[in-house]
Amino acid sequence: MIKLSKTSKLDGIMSWSLEALETCPGSKNKDGSLVEACSGCYATTGNYRFKNVKAPREFNKRDWKREDWVQDMVQALDSSRYFRWFDSGDVYDLNLAHKIYQVMQLTPWVKHWLPTRMEKFPKYKAIITKMRELPNVSVRFSSDSVTGQYENGLHGSVIIPDPTHLQDGMTLCKAYEHDGKCNGCRACYDKEVNLIAYPAHGRSMAKVIRIALAV
Ligand code: SF4
Repeated sequence: MIKLSKTSKLDGIMSWSLEALETCPGSKNKDGSLVEACSGCYATTGNYRFKNVKAPREFNKRDWKREDWVQDMVQALDSSRYFRWFDSGDVYDLNLAHKIYQVMQLTPWVKHWLPTRMEKFPKYKAIITKMRELPNVSVRFSSDSVTGQYENGLHGSVIIPDPTHLQDGMTLCKAYEHDGKCNGCRACYDKEVNLIAYPAHGRSMAKVIRIALAV
């Protein structure tokens, strides 16, 4: 059985997730330390430490390898119009990436949003390019910066310390104006929106930003 999760932010839109960090090879620098954006990761604190939140993520790490997983996912998305891959975790395995591509292809009625850091690894480029070619898919390569640095044409999202750091060409995530909820905004799922800027939130992230701005 497919296990989807629902985060309060996303207006009831469902996600399929894995455990953070363990399935996020793109979260680490060459020396093994975490990149800035992942150092204050919300998915390693708070509710994400609870057993009932961890269990489905551990289950999913085994479940996607099943032969019928693609068909079961397609069925699970039967009445969805939007879907977010990974409110925690990432596409840590190339075979998983190919299966996700099949799900995307077989569900043209769903707008998929896939945030990822796996584009750092050359072997993922081909499958991510194929995903991007689908009209219903928005793949967002996340910048590692927490101070708004990004590469134009490469990154699809970046963290900024607060809305005053918004730069030309960025679309501001205004969830902070709506009690941390999307409130009808669907910019992340829209492939015409090039770069989303997320104002930082949470105490751990505030600390990471203080250090980053002081350097
Ligand atoms: S940009 Fe819009 S869709 Fe994306 S997280 Fe923010 S409020 Fe939600």
